[in-house]
Amino acid sequence: MADKRDYYEVLGVSKNASKQDLKKAYRKLAKQYHPDRNKDSGAEGKFKEAAEAYEVLSDEQKRKAYDQYGFAGTQGFGGAGAGGFGNMEDFMDAFRGSGANGGLGDLFGGLFGGSTVGRGRRNTSGSDLEVNMTLEFNEAVFGVEKEFKYDRIVECHKCDGSGAEGGKMKTCETCNGNGQVAQVQRTILGSIQVVTTCPDCNGLGKEAEKKCNVCNGSGTEKKKDILKIKIPAGVPDGVTLKFNGKGNAGPNNGGYGDVYVNVDVKSHNVLERRGNDIYMDQHIDVYTAVLGGEVKVPTVHGEVIMKVPAGTQSEKVLRLKEKGGPKFRGEGNGDQYVRLIVDIPEKLSKEEKKKWEELEKVSSVK
Ligand SMILES: [Zn+2]
Ligand SMILES: [Zn+2]
Repeated sequence: MADKRDYYEVLGVSKNASKQDLKKAYRKLAKQYHPDRNKDSGAEGKFKEAAEAYEVLSDEQKRKAYDQYGFAGTQGFGGAGAGGFGNMEDFMDAFRGSGANGGLGDLFGGLFGGSTVGRGRRNTSGSDLEVNMTLEFNEAVFGVEKEFKYDRIVECHKCDGSGAEGGKMKTCETCNGNGQVAQVQRTILGSIQVVTTCPDCNGLGKEAEKKCNVCNGSGTEKKKDILKIKIPAGVPDGVTLKFNGKGNAGPNNGGYGDVYVNVDVKSHNVLERRGNDIYMDQHIDVYTAVLGGEVKVPTVHGEVIMKVPAGTQSEKVLRLKEKGGPKFRGEGNGDQYVRLIVDIPEKLSKEEKKKWEELEKVSSVK
């Protein structure tokens, strides 16, 4: 605990940073320190530190608790079943675990999890692409499949990316097959020899016997492609998913870059997500609170009728079991927590006032 850095400091934002500021700062760090890209010894720790800071600060209630009580405020917050790092771990596991059974693995070597698979950054000259995707609240709760069209550079269909007609190559004359050339540079300290990548073969040591007439020797061409994405249920707002090999192709079989999809989740006007659980405030009138009754509440599964017991106090939290979003692992759903706010009448008619006064006289609680 003692050597933990302040969450705002970790993200490099001010105490009054907006949600958008937090997201932006987090994404920047997540990319910078993603262990797939960054092999520095401290990178993974920094990556996790940023994820933890974002997880807390992006949740309004956790942020409030953190502002007030520091790290202690983020522990076991919100009582039974409430968010917490448990969900973050679940999330990381979900991505991690997906690698083994194929399918999702390729898609979700995401910023969460891909790190531990040990799949290093491939040696590719293909560039990465980045896209933004906005999900509806319910899409994020239940998971969704999305398709989007994008322009990318792929290997030339005619020469399979080699850039040579029929794939026939010969030794590069410029570098004699070394892939490197030595150049003499004059400096104020005298002449020095600098070895650089051969500009004619890009270090391959080979060149086309005859250039492919479709790609003019580059080995690449433009293509309108479609990326199919399976978003898992409970995807958090602000994460970036990585799709290996779906980026641009590098020249002359240089390999493919990746696609990074930045996920934004629209907020709901009443419901709030924390992991698989849903939170909301529901106003009830004083009669329902005192006498008990029923109230209609929205859930992600549609409207339900909730029983309010007699003698309900304001701020009481009722749980609607299994009315949250689907869980990552195991069966069933999270829960919905409804905080009841009792509205005390602000204006009374003469008759009402009389009745309240009569009630006061006979009341046992006075
Ligand atoms: Zn060469
Ligand atoms: Zn070609």
